[in-house]
Amino acid sequence: GERLDFRASKQRLLVVANRLPVSAVRHGEDSWQLEMSVGGLVTALLGVKEFDTRWIGWAGVNVPDEIGQKALAKALDEKRCIPVFLDEEVVHQYYNGYCNNILWPLFHYIGLPQEDRLATTRSFQSQFDAYKKANQLFADVVNEHYEEGDVVWCHDYHLMFLPKCLKERNSKMKVGWFLHTPFPSSEIHRMLPSRLELLRSVLAADLVGFHTYDYARHFVSACTRILGLEGTPEGVEDQGKLTRIAAFPVGIDSERFIKALELPEVQDHMKVLKQRFAGRKVMLGVDRLDMIKGIPQKILAFEKFLEENPNWRNKVVLLQIAVPTRTDVPEYQKLTSQVHEIVGRINGRFGSLTAVPIHHLDRSLDFHELCALYAVTDVALVTSLRDGMNLVSYEYVACQESKKGVLILSEFAGAAQSLGAGAILVNPWNVTEVASSIGYALNMPADEREKRHHHNFKHVISHTAQEWAATFVSELNVTIVEAQLRTRQ
Ligand code: ADP
Repeated sequence: GERLDFRASKQRLLVVANRLPVSAVRHGEDSWQLEMSVGGLVTALLGVKEFDTRWIGWAGVNVPDEIGQKALAKALDEKRCIPVFLDEEVVHQYYNGYCNNILWPLFHYIGLPQEDRLATTRSFQSQFDAYKKANQLFADVVNEHYEEGDVVWCHDYHLMFLPKCLKERNSKMKVGWFLHTPFPSSEIHRMLPSRLELLRSVLAADLVGFHTYDYARHFVSACTRILGLEGTPEGVEDQGKLTRIAAFPVGIDSERFIKALELPEVQDHMKVLKQRFAGRKVMLGVDRLDMIKGIPQKILAFEKFLEENPNWRNKVVLLQIAVPTRTDVPEYQKLTSQVHEIVGRINGRFGSLTAVPIHHLDRSLDFHELCALYAVTDVALVTSLRDGMNLVSYEYVACQESKKGVLILSEFAGAAQSLGAGAILVNPWNVTEVASSIGYALNMPADEREKRHHHNFKHVISHTAQEWAATFVSELNVTIVEAQLRTRQ
């Protein structure tokens, strides 16, 4: 007889993340202009070709009226995006509050807010309630669009409560969850007032993924020590239900960077930069202006290097590109002025009438400028105090095939696990060590640079974002099949 081809239409993948990969600008009551953004996750998922992918998330704008919501949903549909609408109060409590003020600092070992403890304890609960409410709203939208056989992939610390909400509505749904930040030591996670609920909710997923083996191990320890569950080589077991836990290190779309270097625009930028800094070695820092990036520590290390090496003073320059983020948060404003003050002091101290040692830009660069910078600089300085992975280090390596520059990399970035062999690893808190690593990098002989670069380049081109996404999704598919087999036995 005839065989039905179940593969005729592609399996659907619902990607749920706090933000949709679009920015939306309203032009009238029912008219929206959309622009797709090319973040790491977007390019990664473009590579997952065997699935029909839809995005579910917040569009980043407040749309209180129904006409506007309907029009936006319709416009987004063409981009395969489905909006979750959050009102301003929820965004304030859930996104600014619980996500960015509680979970982000805690997961990066900065700790919980300490000022005015009693007041924060009260608002902590309301922020956590808003977090749960927001996650329920995401679950409502997923549920509404879910079709049997779909795979649902939830992303990041914004949506830790989502796996549980989804499974409660539909226990057959295939649910994966991936964390893009570090997962901290269980001793850090223990401080969180909502520690139990969050762990239990994540465990409702079928597959839980982290960037590194260490983060996965910390998560399993939190489950065994805080929840008293049993860890197995595959994950965590709770009353016969196994949640698989594994490391899936993300990568970049390396080809996009390598190809960009051939473009005339990029070549032009490179020419200008080479002329501008002729006769000097150039060091590069590219970060979001966030406390986790260790920007003040990096600049202080550079100062120490200049202090101790007078012969280098007019021969090296540091370009620090720092994109401002979360500019409405006081701590971030404080960081900006702190960085400006240090840069000003050092430039006053070591600059001349015609040249300064540090060029600091408070803005984002377009892709072509960024590639040119990556390609012409001699040393990259990535000194994150904690960082889930750090893709800047990967992008730098991808663009250094001809120059073979040196990567100085924090041992507290996830990337240290994969690029450690080629990079100079440093403890970013140890300013003396970073300063001497700068000297080591600037003086490194060509054959050593080549060997180190080759090592990392091989890794970057063979561990791409596309493979990362494809591996996670196919593991998630397999996980479910195994679980179903087990229950049938
Ligand atoms: P995080 O996700 O914490 O910001 P990553 O290093 O993993 O850190 O990713 C940052 C991304 O943002 C990279 O793809 C990088 O190219 C981009 N980026 C960072 N700073 C800038 C900048 N000043 N201009 C343009 N792009 C930037």
